Amino acid sequence: MVQLDKSDAGIKCAVAGTALHTPRCGEIEFLQDALIVIDQPGFIQSILTPTDSHYEQLKNDLKDDDKLLELSNNEYLLPGLIDLHIHAPQWPQMGKALHLPLYDWLHTCTFPLEAKYADVTFAEVVYRSLVDTLLSNGTTTAVYFGTIHLDATKLLADICVELGQRALVGRVSMDNEDQCPDYYRDLSAAKSIEDTREFIEYLRGQSSGAGIVLPAITPRFIPSCSDEALAGHGELAEEYDCHIQTHCSEDNWSHDYGVSRFGKTDTESLLEFGLLTDKTVLAHCNFINPRDMMTIRSAQTAIAHCPLSNFLFSNAVLPVRQLLDKGVKVGLGTDVSGGAHVSIYDSCCQAIVASRALQEGVNANLPPEDRGLADASINFKEAFWMATAGGGEALGFKVGRFSEGYCFDAMVIDAAATDSNLVIWRDMDSLEDVLQKIVYNARRPNVRTVWVQGDIVAGGIPRSNRQVPST
Ligand SMILES: [Zn+2]
Repeated sequence: MVQLDKSDAGIKCAVAGTALHTPRCGEIEFLQDALIVIDQPGFIQSILTPTDSHYEQLKNDLKDDDKLLELSNNEYLLPGLIDLHIHAPQWPQMGKALHLPLYDWLHTCTFPLEAKYADVTFAEVVYRSLVDTLLSNGTTTAVYFGTIHLDATKLLADICVELGQRALVGRVSMDNEDQCPDYYRDLSAAKSIEDTREFIEYLRGQSSGAGIVLPAITPRFIPSCSDEALAGHGELAEEYDCHIQTHCSEDNWSHDYGVSRFGKTDTESLLEFGLLTDKTVLAHCNFINPRDMMTIRSAQTAIAHCPLSNFLFSNAVLPVRQLLDKGVKVGLGTDVSGGAHVSIYDSCCQAIVASRALQEGVNANLPPEDRGLADASINFKEAFWMATAGGGEALGFKVGRFSEGYCFDAMVIDAAATDSNLVIWRDMDSLEDVLQKIVYNARRPNVRTVWVQGDIVAGGIPRSNRQVPST
């Protein structure tokens, strides 16, 4: 046996098997029989293939050192999924109250629920359940809206640190008396800014998070914030060089509200308030115009595409193909609970379907040539890229792909899992077919093991012995 040399001693673990990822939008890379080596801090140190001279030797050494996970023929290594937009406090509401328009939904269902997070005991139960569920679904990075409550939102961040999920967490800012209820509102713009500052300082002061969990400045959306609060949060973003998240031109009502209040689109207003930066994630953006699109691209701002939520609440479909073609940064979000599915694989499918609906049109009473928007569709490779590498680029994080120097945030998909709806026919399915099938049919039962920064954060349960069918 060859002893591990000094550099090998810095290895945390390694995975050997077939890895699939989309390092560029629309392009799959298949890494067959790859040996992916992760260093102690959790970054990918090297990716070897059987043609590399020391592949076998290193693999054997790692096995002897009990640092190697060897995947079976039914298992595939994929990058962890990235949810660019999710409302943690709305977790108890997921899958209900989906029949209302956005304004009514906020005021009759959502604000009363979010107000309950003044109680940190309630918050702890919900937030633990959510973070655990997301990790079990392979969501290794989540961009969370919290509530207005400092303590509950600090707790959400603490739970992400404890359970090992990479996250951006935002204390929601909303102080506009005209649009926010008395029972759920920051007391003033000054208090709103002060609380956001305290939240940033709290997270920035934590050593245990080690950069895994970061703060995001989170003005809810233009209607809920006063001019003073919007300006103040823009100043905070500059002062702290902090991520920002907000909703932008989501539906007819909120978009029209912004235009009537400021005489300009949400995009233009956010730019003026200093809230459109290369660290901003804008949810939705369904009603942005071509000039807004260029503004967003110039600012290197990212869009969180939330296709199911858009169908349910937004009166429109985001032209995501157009955005990708123009080089705008776009990733996917579940928008729980405006969206009713927690898996980003579901978001991939919904993004594909939404783009096809936009392209083909849906009103059969119109002639085909008038029914849809030409060249609007995306395919599963582009959807998966948005869910992984695209989401990573949106946040400026080195995640979402298998490349040296990237964080090892990954999952094993087990095609032979008990209760699987994913069935691979080995003699009929190419590796491209496998990835497409995973996007459409792999769900929680298939998520075998999940890593964030090289640490196992979910799964690791014994493998099933289920036989995979063959023709
Ligand atoms: Zn949202």
